[in-house]
Amino acid sequence: MSTQEQSTAAASETHSPDVVVVGAGTAGCYAAATVAREGYDAVVLERKTEDEAGHIACGDALKGADAFPESIPKSQIEPAFTNTGVDHGRFEIPQEDTVLEIPIPGELAVIDRWEYGRLIIEGAADAGADFHYDTVVKNVTQADDGRVTGVEAMRKGESRTYEADVVIDAAGSLSVLQDNVDFSTSTFDTNVNYSHFCSAYREVVRVDDPVEWDDALVFKPTERAAGYLWYFPRTDTEINAGLGFQMTEEPMKLVDDLKRDLENRPEFRGAEVEDKLGAALPTRRPYDSAVHPGYMAVGDAAGHVNPTTGGGIAGAAYAGKYAAEAAVEGLETGDVSEKTLWEYNERVMDHFGARYAALDVYNILSTAVDVDDLMGLLAAMPGEKLAEALYSGSTSIGPKLAAESLYESYGHWGTIINLFRTKRRADDLLELYEEYPHHPAALKHWQQRRDDLMEKVYETTGADPKY
Ligand SMILES: Cc1cc2nc3c(=O)[nH]c(=O)nc-3n(C[C@H](O)[C@H](O)[C@H](O)COP(=O)(O)OP(=O)(O)OC[C@H]3O[C@@H](n4cnc5c(N)ncnc54)[C@H](O)[C@@H]3O)c2cc1C
Repeated sequence: MSTQEQSTAAASETHSPDVVVVGAGTAGCYAAATVAREGYDAVVLERKTEDEAGHIACGDALKGADAFPESIPKSQIEPAFTNTGVDHGRFEIPQEDTVLEIPIPGELAVIDRWEYGRLIIEGAADAGADFHYDTVVKNVTQADDGRVTGVEAMRKGESRTYEADVVIDAAGSLSVLQDNVDFSTSTFDTNVNYSHFCSAYREVVRVDDPVEWDDALVFKPTERAAGYLWYFPRTDTEINAGLGFQMTEEPMKLVDDLKRDLENRPEFRGAEVEDKLGAALPTRRPYDSAVHPGYMAVGDAAGHVNPTTGGGIAGAAYAGKYAAEAAVEGLETGDVSEKTLWEYNERVMDHFGARYAALDVYNILSTAVDVDDLMGLLAAMPGEKLAEALYSGSTSIGPKLAAESLYESYGHWGTIINLFRTKRRADDLLELYEEYPHHPAALKHWQQRRDDLMEKVYETTGADPKY
């Protein structure tokens, strides 16, 4: 065969697995492992090289490490857990000259993210999934009735076609796949824009002398609202240092701002930067529906991140599992309609989606209040209650604590009243998410009720509408 003929043959290369997963991050690996363990063919397409795959911008804090989906055994990822001794958050509030120590409920590990990334790929491959690296997905193919039938990709200058019964979009924030699907025949959530994302950047920094706070995640507000800096100890001499800001704000100079804070901290004198990476992450409610015939979006591609902490690894792993199980149901029944795959939406909302939607209300509030006022209030709040609120989306406060907090927070009462009213709205929202519909036809009516509640959220907080 001449070179010309070879390249023509390569140009038309077609693969036909049962399920195509786009993206070899957490959501993609758990999805592929789950499909493969059920005996179906899963191919993962990853734009990065085999060496670079799994290298993803992250703060390295893995919350809920004790209860991860079993399609990749926990023992397989544990070697990447470099610090399991973290039990609290340290909130530095320079405006109030205060440091708050707040317990973190549940198991938490700080991890070597790249090592973890390699291990989940290995785990999914052990389960039977195939990985095609250097493969950039460019387009999504659809049948006349709108059903997704596969994707088109480029690999080292050659085009490849993948035909599959189900495509799982695990391509991360602002997934390019969604720009290429015509969703007019389904209820897939397309109400997504840049203001729902946070831009974040992190460095992995090595210091000579151990830091004193290797049992804590350190947080500090940035000079403007809706942003924070973090210092997460991978070990007592290797720290993940980063920051992020909501894209509704004036852009921050992330690299310069981080550098300035590092220079002002004596423990980082003479520190060596080992790695730098930045990315966008969703800080919004989960997609109302992440399902279209033959297609599901998972993880960052569907807004599955705790919008107050930015933690998205656990949500991505579970979304991957739930989507894969819906895909298997579709393969077994020969029906990959929106209705059949819908159960995936319900499981996401039931497990963490409702909670994240309620937490988003506090994010909305934070865009509307004065940062100094909010920090003063935080400094006066009881730590356990804050921790509860951060992770559960709701908290209750007894009369004694309420009285103490009120006394401590003299001067911030306006913000407190606002906060308590907002909490009531968040609780209403949580309740409504418990009634998330069992089939796509009922979504519109449910969305109407939810949007009515959101109107009240904007009224209460004084914030500009987010959606
Ligand atoms: C700076 C930063 C800090 C964070 N800190 C934390 C933290 O401490 N704890 C936490 O739990 N979460 C954190 N998060 C969020 C967390 O990283 C994400 O929620 C999580 O990685 C989502 O996983 P995913 O599989 O959905 O997407 P990703 O991990 O982003 O994986 C997507 C994959 O798809 C590939 N891809 C994209 N487009 C294409 C294409 N067209 N073709 C082929 N492949 C493609 C990418 O190369 C990538 O490998 C942080 C995020 C950022 C940006």
